[in-house]
Amino acid sequence: MDFLPFTRPSIDEATIAAVVDVLRSGWITTGPKCRELEARLSERFGGRPVRLAASATGALEFALRLAGVGPGDEVITTPLSWVATANVILTVGARPVFVDVDPRTRNIDLDRLEAAITPRTRALIPVDLAGLPVDRDRLADIAGRHHLRVIEDAAQSMGATWAGHEIGSTGDLIALSFHANKNFTTAEGGCLVLNSEAEARLFEKLRLQGVTRLPDGTMDVDVLGFKHNLTDIAAAIGLGQLPRFADFNRRRAELARRYFEQIDPALQLTLPPADAQTGAARSNWHMFQPLLPLANMTIGRGEFIAAMKDRGIGIGVHYPAMHRFTLYRQLGWQDGDFPHAERIGDTTVTLPLFPAMHDTDVDRVCAALREVIAPALTSGAAR
Ligand SMILES: *Cc1c(COP(=O)(O)O)cnc(C)c1O
Repeated sequence: MDFLPFTRPSIDEATIAAVVDVLRSGWITTGPKCRELEARLSERFGGRPVRLAASATGALEFALRLAGVGPGDEVITTPLSWVATANVILTVGARPVFVDVDPRTRNIDLDRLEAAITPRTRALIPVDLAGLPVDRDRLADIAGRHHLRVIEDAAQSMGATWAGHEIGSTGDLIALSFHANKNFTTAEGGCLVLNSEAEARLFEKLRLQGVTRLPDGTMDVDVLGFKHNLTDIAAAIGLGQLPRFADFNRRRAELARRYFEQIDPALQLTLPPADAQTGAARSNWHMFQPLLPLANMTIGRGEFIAAMKDRGIGIGVHYPAMHRFTLYRQLGWQDGDFPHAERIGDTTVTLPLFPAMHDTDVDRVCAALREVIAPALTSGAAR
């Protein structure tokens, strides 16, 4: 039987042909394809300025710089995310302030967020983990009352909605990722949705050495820039994804529904909230992540993953709570600081979910879950 990875990008022949066209065109780095993708994304996000970058990590870092965040400042975020979210805060010289997650949504707990605000707080970085949006109304309310910038780490949530509005079309600064594993991809890449053409101009400078082109053909540099521009090769992949993107996410939602139907409740897995349980938030089902009942199992997560691999099924781990990484421990965080994030990070597994999967692939994963978990349960209803 074919190996079923936890994710796989959907690239069609038309996209491959479009990439080949770019390669033959004589212009392969930032150019017309990037400008076209920026224009298409801007249409998608209500006409707001959109600028591409080589990664969402770069887009997030520039968002912090645009917001004026630097040494001495604090930025509040979640400990349960890809480590890029906190790394960029360190990169600009500021200090991450973690707030534990809501165990139901696995996103930053907005009931605890305000208690973490200090006079040094400059910005919030909410993360839509697995594509489930954080409550945008409460975020805007908290940020407004405390005069904070909101830099949305929407790396995982392109196509998700809050109260019917697509993520990216409302809010302050919104960073999206087009990494190969995300719902929408350019292989590597990302973008920032901005508030004004002035911010967009500064972003353009930051992503390419701070350069401003002058009308007489010369140039000037008035700010320290970096090298985070996207290529037209990558942009052509994204342009090929756009017409199919709604179908991708529809299919992901169908597959998620099938997991909810087919996963055996006797296995004691903690499932993510279903669409009907998330109020105004509508996930794009970037990932489907049950939590293993490890306290009631005779095998650990590593053995579970190996046993699934033996059955031809790829399982991911997204993510260990990042305050326990060595770098963050060296900065003072320790075990027990954020119990919900730690427990989720220790027990989470990512099941295969990507648009080209068949219903029978879900069934196969669910059968393998039963085979591997049921005999390993030490208590409960397993037979
Ligand atoms: C993927 C991801 C990023 C970084 O995106 P890149 O495009 O790989 O730089 C940041 N935050 C989260 C939550 C992500 O999932």
